[in-house]
Amino acid sequence: MIVFDLQCSDGGETFEVWFRSSSDFDEQSAGGLIECPFCGSIKVAKAPMAPRLPRKGASDPLARLAAAQAELLKNSRWVGDQFVNTARAIHAGEAEPEQVHGNATIAQAKSLAEDGVPVAPLPLPVVPPSQVN
Ligand SMILES: [Zn+2]
Repeated sequence: MIVFDLQCSDGGETFEVWFRSSSDFDEQSAGGLIECPFCGSIKVAKAPMAPRLPRKGASDPLARLAAAQAELLKNSRWVGDQFVNTARAIHAGEAEPEQVHGNATIAQAKSLAEDGVPVAPLPLPVVPPSQVN
């Protein structure tokens, strides 16, 4: 797996997308298959890499990102494929307010955002608890 920082040419938003390989990105990009998760534009290109200064004693950046995400999700409940329904129910006041995370397609996330449901993409793919040994 490889992660690219991508930038939307329409809205200027930057976001990260995971690909199996670098050529995967090239193929999907050429086929117009990569959508901006914020506005749905397919005018998406690799973002200029922000300079990352090595910090003294810094560990693997991916490990630090994973740790940050784990911290973020400590108080969040995994709801898997029920994410969209659960997020909508909480937003509508039909379910107890709580922080949840789960699976959503880019189109689903976009539609939630359009309806005013606060959603944010996670920096890393989450392993569902049922698959953690
Ligand atoms: Zn955009």
